[in-house]
Amino acid sequence: MAADFYEMLGVSKESTPSEIKKAYRKLALKYHPDKNQGDKEAEDKFKEISSAYEVLSDENKRAKYDRFGHDAYTQSGGGGGAGGGDPFDIFSQVFGGGGGGGGSSIFDQLFGGAGGGGGGRRNGPIPGDDLRYDMELTFEEAVFGVKKEVTVNKTESCDRCSGNGAEPGSKVVKCGYCKGAGQVTMAQGFFSVRQECPKCSGRGESFEKTCNTCAGQGTKRSKKKISVTVPAGVDTGNRMRVRGEGDAGAKGGPAGDLYVIMHVKEHEIFTRRDDDILCEIPIKFATATLGGTIEVPTLEGRANLKIAPGTQSGTVMRMRGKGVANLQGRGKGDQHVKVIVEIPTNLNDEQKEALKAFTEACGDTVNPMAESFLSKAKRWFAG
Ligand SMILES: [Zn+2]
Ligand SMILES: [Zn+2]
Repeated sequence: MAADFYEMLGVSKESTPSEIKKAYRKLALKYHPDKNQGDKEAEDKFKEISSAYEVLSDENKRAKYDRFGHDAYTQSGGGGGAGGGDPFDIFSQVFGGGGGGGGSSIFDQLFGGAGGGGGGRRNGPIPGDDLRYDMELTFEEAVFGVKKEVTVNKTESCDRCSGNGAEPGSKVVKCGYCKGAGQVTMAQGFFSVRQECPKCSGRGESFEKTCNTCAGQGTKRSKKKISVTVPAGVDTGNRMRVRGEGDAGAKGGPAGDLYVIMHVKEHEIFTRRDDDILCEIPIKFATATLGGTIEVPTLEGRANLKIAPGTQSGTVMRMRGKGVANLQGRGKGDQHVKVIVEIPTNLNDEQKEALKAFTEACGDTVNPMAESFLSKAKRWFAG
């Protein structure tokens, strides 16, 4: 049985894209063939995590994978990869078959061109990171939906320089750090890598004066209040994407997204099971015996529920359409009411007498449940 892609990357099904990216990045560095030359096991592992990342990093592929499962994925040979039908095709994409990194492989995207043989430097736009926000909701908020303001600590574009890091009006000059090359060579572990110049971010040029507000970073950390509209019917583990509210991008790249993860608190009376809700209600011995009507709390207020004569403790009754609105708009769930017959305690003398009189009035009457049990017990003793 093959492990699933989430297991391969050591992440959960609820992980945000940036968590998945982080996990992959860590494993990819560990098992990268450059670091593990001739180690077949590391190479296989690297192929495995790369193929997991290829699927989980693509929203459409991930959704399909979640829906159809790992087996379906491996049978279909990768769900429409770049031809060849090899689910590990990404391996050749990453190492470009000796052609020298074109700059579009996942590995290049993650490591900013450090792996590429002799390709052009990367100084295109860089998208901002996705952010995660864990939102706690009361049972009612999850059921009915709610509009909440959340405060997110994120990177935003600097207002003063509009993100380019230059003091307004400053002249463009050649970058002194990389002497205009845009790249610098650095030793990193076993291998030396050419990296994008950290000073000019690969542009080869910089500004005479850096922005006073952000010291040339082009971004600032700030707390931003974001209004989030939670739809009715969410449950613990649901993820909601708020587009463009992640970290700001760099060099004109788009902002990341904010992922809101729902955590719903327990309720005193109701328990949720998908779109249905359950509750237990104690009823009187006499009501259960004679039948009657009880008042039941529902999401929309009080409702009456008929109790048939002779209702046993533990009986579950269904109230149609009294559950939670389905998130995908498929109507409402039901409310299930479990009645618990409460045996009276601390009877006074008068009550005890009445009960004794009742028992006498019952005489030798045997109830169906007892009758069934007695006949089974007889067979057991006779056995
Ligand atoms: Zn600035
Ligand atoms: Zn430079």
